[in-house]
Amino acid sequence: MSIQMVDLKTQYHHIKEEIDREVLGVIESSQFIGGPKVTAFRENLEKYLGVKHVIPCANGTDALQIAMMALGLKPGDEVIVPAFTYVATAEVIGLLGLTPVMTDVDPDTFNIRPDHIEAAITPRTKAIVPVHLFGQSADMEPIMALAKKHNLFVIEDNAQAIGGDYNSHGVASNHNGAKKTGTIGHFGCTSFFPSKNLGCYGDGGALMTNDDELAAAARMIANHGQSKQYYHDKIGVNSRLDAIQAAILDVKLKHLDAYCAARQKAADYYDRVFSEISALKIPARHPNSTHVFHQYTLQITTPEPRVTREALRTYLADQGIPMMIYYPVPLYEQIAFREYWQGGTLPVTEQLCASVFSLPMHTELTEQVLEKITTAVKTFFTEKRNN
Ligand SMILES: *Cc1c(COP(=O)(O)O)cnc(C)c1O
Repeated sequence: MSIQMVDLKTQYHHIKEEIDREVLGVIESSQFIGGPKVTAFRENLEKYLGVKHVIPCANGTDALQIAMMALGLKPGDEVIVPAFTYVATAEVIGLLGLTPVMTDVDPDTFNIRPDHIEAAITPRTKAIVPVHLFGQSADMEPIMALAKKHNLFVIEDNAQAIGGDYNSHGVASNHNGAKKTGTIGHFGCTSFFPSKNLGCYGDGGALMTNDDELAAAARMIANHGQSKQYYHDKIGVNSRLDAIQAAILDVKLKHLDAYCAARQKAADYYDRVFSEISALKIPARHPNSTHVFHQYTLQITTPEPRVTREALRTYLADQGIPMMIYYPVPLYEQIAFREYWQGGTLPVTEQLCASVFSLPMHTELTEQVLEKITTAVKTFFTEKRNN
């Protein structure tokens, strides 16, 4: 039994017939760029998310870049981001000559915090990019309130949380204020990278917005700044979701809720076992967000020198169980980002980079595999502590 962080092959085999038919259909039609498959997926995703506009593009990083260009952000503008995230979020900010302002995150949810955002606002601040890390929404209501108060744009990096819900009254409440993550800010951006919760079989991404003008601007920028064919009003980029990927995504979108439920079921299993290990802190679940578990990420809380993350990694690897560290380095310590950092450290980000680890999480985890993984982790912590 080989255990992987993500099992895309088994997932494919469950929907193989439909996927194969759709992919071959696109090849037969030879409509590789644009066309009915891209339109159908765009419309179905708009319906699923309850958002007015979806603008498909080539990948999640492009989606973030196009959002910042469509908002008219200019060199020197400051954009507030969490310091504990994947690099893409801040990379496009630097690429456009904007200044990433990195802030500390919440030790329980790993997400950006409204109080840290407020403390980082200056007269040059133009936007906030909350990242819904590992599948759980940042607390959007106070973030949107701050944005309104200070006249800032909000771009949700929803690459890890598509399918999730946010409700400032609590997702379990009967209050009908629930919204899909990625549809709350001025723009939401997502990625269809194969291992994401809604992944294609190559690269893909999309922007979401309820604003007609912003949607028109983003559409134009994604297509060479073109207003009508061969008339270019803006410097844009070439960023398209191709028809084969759209056809695959349209099939997988129908399964997204079931995929999220499968991830949640695996997370529940992990939680039950790991909540009894005192050296581990299980991932917190914020009452205002569903958690769609792009990653299942634990923290090692014991200071015992023999019970290190590296020792655990070796122990698991010996049994064929992989683990990953998302993310080992704070953004401000990355060489490419040092110029944006005034020195010092952010304590929670530092602590998380040193203590987090992620276990296999995907839609195809069986009880048998979950038992093997959890038993190995449990044995590691009991053995190391008693010997
Ligand atoms: C994956 C990811 C991206 C980038 O998406 P790509 O499609 O790989 O460009 C951006 N932000 C976060 C948080 C991600 O996880």
